[in-house]
Amino acid sequence: MYLELKFAAEDWAAATVEAMSAFAAEHRAELRDCQRAARFPAELYAEMGRRGWVGPFTPTDEGGSGLGVAEYCLIEEEVGRCGLVSPQISIQGQRWLIDWGTPEQRRRYLPGMARGDLIFSESISEPGVGSSMKLMESTARRDGDDWVLNGAKTHVNLGHQSHVTLVYAIAPEGITAFLVDTDLDGVETRPTDPIGLRLIPTADVVLTDVRVPGSAVLGEAGRGMDTFFSTFNMSRLGNASELIGFGRRALADAIAYGRDRQVGASMVTDFQGIQWTVADCYGDLYGASLARDRAANLHAAGADVALATSLAKKMAIDASEHAVNEAFALTGGHGLYTDTDYGQLLHDMKVLRVAGGSLEVLRNYVARRVLRSDDYEGLG
Ligand SMILES: Cc1cc2nc3c(=O)[nH]c(=O)nc-3n(C[C@H](O)[C@H](O)[C@H](O)COP(=O)(O)OP(=O)(O)OC[C@H]3O[C@@H](n4cnc5c(N)ncnc54)[C@H](O)[C@@H]3O)c2cc1C
Repeated sequence: MYLELKFAAEDWAAATVEAMSAFAAEHRAELRDCQRAARFPAELYAEMGRRGWVGPFTPTDEGGSGLGVAEYCLIEEEVGRCGLVSPQISIQGQRWLIDWGTPEQRRRYLPGMARGDLIFSESISEPGVGSSMKLMESTARRDGDDWVLNGAKTHVNLGHQSHVTLVYAIAPEGITAFLVDTDLDGVETRPTDPIGLRLIPTADVVLTDVRVPGSAVLGEAGRGMDTFFSTFNMSRLGNASELIGFGRRALADAIAYGRDRQVGASMVTDFQGIQWTVADCYGDLYGASLARDRAANLHAAGADVALATSLAKKMAIDASEHAVNEAFALTGGHGLYTDTDYGQLLHDMKVLRVAGGSLEVLRNYVARRVLRSDDYEGLG
């Protein structure tokens, strides 16, 4: 729901919602097949890129759409609502390149990423390192002007399909980010099989003596934590938006089913218990949308948004989980078959409950901010 988002052009918003819905409806069967098979639909994704839905932040003269954070939120929410291929990983990558990339790195990667035909992945998590990056074991050592990378990464969305992956590794200067072309000697990828977000499936990425030039460093050696955190307020808004989209679709589909489903003398939506469920789920999605919209508007204004974006993603997780869970109450046995989308939506939301900042880590941050503030962030 777009309650307070400030779009540069309202007609862009309405036209984009309509175009994305129509595109998803047209390709529903292929999207379902790919979802089941955990297959990345490269052609559909490239078509999304051509339509301007993969490169919202990238300037138009570098192949993108040159839009703002409100438009990014709308695109991600429609992706979640319509079941399209999530461009979130690439958008985060483009943001990294815009904020930290050299002119040469931008020339090499940005236009293809924004068009949707150059696939990007981020190789951060390791088998022993998820939430705590400080425990990272992948290494980068200098050899003349080059760097040599070694390590094992896991849970990497599009790790197997990507042309370039952003690898975080420990250099003598500290954690450093490297743009690594995946056709280099020593890069090996092994597809894995996640329960959710199966249109952008995961892989393990193993790096064995991978030699990259000095120009592959993103930002500066030792500044990996800075690059890492620099995009996180933005990416939490994208995650929140996708989650709101999952919840909206689950609730809308379930209401449509319940309105037509007769049980005895009543329709399912005549039962007061079901009506309360609808009211509670709708209220949660409304609240999460307001929190996301406020955070997006603050972000666009250049304000400090860490608390606002953390709350937006936290509230979107809660609202999405509630709506998707309760969709099963409205749909009874009908919702428990794989020819409906409810099970997949549940799995998709569970992935975003963890990936890109887990609910627990978000709650830690919100609690820290409340507890350290003199008026408990407005409570006192
Ligand atoms: C499908 C999928 C896609 C992903 N995509 C990518 C990707 O593209 N690139 C990438 O690098 N990574 C990716 N990830 C990894 C994801 O970011 C990690 O799974 C996440 O950071 C959590 O790490 P972990 O799984 O090792 O959990 P752990 O760090 O082992 O944590 C286990 C549990 O403890 C909780 N926890 C951790 N610390 C605290 C704390 N201080 N207080 C309270 N609770 C805590 C966590 O929230 C979690 O619930 C993906 C994961 C999945 C499942």
